[in-house]
Amino acid sequence: MRTVLMLALLAGCPKPAETVSTPAAVPEAAPETPERKLAVLIVLDQFPLELFEAGRPYYTGGLARLTGDQARQGVGVYPYATTQTCPGHVTLATGTEPSKSGIVANYLLAADGSQTYCADFALLKTEPLGDAVKEAGGKVVALSLKDRASLFLGGHSPDLMAYYDVKKDVIAGAEDLVARERIDEIFSEVWTPREDLGREDDRPNEGYYGLTPTFPHGPATELEGKARLATPMAGVLLTDMAIAAVDREGLGQDEAPDFLSVSYSNTDYVGHYFTASSLEALDNLLRVDAELERLFAHLDATVGEGQWTALLSSDHGGEDDPVDYIEGEPIAERVKARLAEAGIGGEIVFSWPEATIQGAAAGREAEAYAIAVEELAATEGVISAFTTDAIPDGESWSEAVRMSYDTERSAPIYGISAEGVVFDWYEQHGSDHGSPHDYDRRVPVLLYGAGVAPGELGDVDIRQVAPTLTSLVGARSPKDATLPAIGLE
Ligand SMILES: [Zn+2]
Repeated sequence: MRTVLMLALLAGCPKPAETVSTPAAVPEAAPETPERKLAVLIVLDQFPLELFEAGRPYYTGGLARLTGDQARQGVGVYPYATTQTCPGHVTLATGTEPSKSGIVANYLLAADGSQTYCADFALLKTEPLGDAVKEAGGKVVALSLKDRASLFLGGHSPDLMAYYDVKKDVIAGAEDLVARERIDEIFSEVWTPREDLGREDDRPNEGYYGLTPTFPHGPATELEGKARLATPMAGVLLTDMAIAAVDREGLGQDEAPDFLSVSYSNTDYVGHYFTASSLEALDNLLRVDAELERLFAHLDATVGEGQWTALLSSDHGGEDDPVDYIEGEPIAERVKARLAEAGIGGEIVFSWPEATIQGAAAGREAEAYAIAVEELAATEGVISAFTTDAIPDGESWSEAVRMSYDTERSAPIYGISAEGVVFDWYEQHGSDHGSPHDYDRRVPVLLYGAGVAPGELGDVDIRQVAPTLTSLVGARSPKDATLPAIGLE
């Protein structure tokens, strides 16, 4: 009893103090401080297995722990086709696929061509794990470098949800989490690579958004907009945010286990602007490796060695070395010409792999979709195109597309790119994701720490991550998650 009160006072947490004030609710023997006091989800946004394996010989930091003798390593398989950031983070947060969660894409494309950005709880149809953690009495902290990577992982009532808002150059949700001078100091570093990585600096399709194909890059303070997120410095800032949040919220300091998610999006931006097979991608990953060790060392010091668990995974993989790009504009021109010729009018709007026709003559939408599907299917690099009311059966990706489809949320047209070919959002630069191919759907799942039995995990369904995290903190599964937790100790 006294121990509980002391811990509660030390941690400055109101919850156990409330329990103390109603002694009838406290069991006769006060519970021992549990072994697992904190579960940490690390998301490396866009982390293809190819990049993970390329880095393996060099890991000395957090990734060395996560791939070492004490770790459990496997592959998380996304069961659905639209492998994008928002659907991925939602699946990690809820244990449900897009056809259930309602978050089918980063931008929900309606049949009329209007687009809705995904990061809005009003759009979510299933329960995020943070809500279950809160119900069990734990704290919830979610941190990232973009809003859609922390919102859903924080759940409806996080103790702290914050992301670095690059447009405003502030930490949204907790402006004082890292001092202004420290943010400026982090971004003033020039990015130069280590010299032992054996990758060429100047490979095809590198350098976008003001970033040159070759090193050095930065300082990030001189890079415009999102380019500063395509540097390891963004990961340094995120680690600073995580360490400050652990201290500020007293994570892992009382008897109710807590949940922390940290989503490193710099891996995604580096992939998009340089390709995941670039020297930049490998060097950035190894900087993240060092940052993870900085975070883990802090958890050892504050929560205690062996008293926290980390699960690392990704929201999607990526085509690490694209062979070709699908250009949207020529397709749009062809479709527009044919629609005009047929007297239907209107034009195609992409939110690849989805598309729709905007402005077709009333009553002639089906004809317009058929024309668009025909033109898409005839495009080099597109292996299939169809309307979503007629998803083809018997293809390797048929079920995956269905799991990405929601009648209320999905656009009427869907396209599948050939392997290695990506839709050209970035003017023929960098890697992308969003296809049902293995390189987009298969990502590392690594477990380390309290409750983890070392060994091989094999392939797991990525929807198992959410119930695993709740089970690690002693909370019930998110209520719409139907798959079991990954077997731990
Ligand atoms: Zn991305």
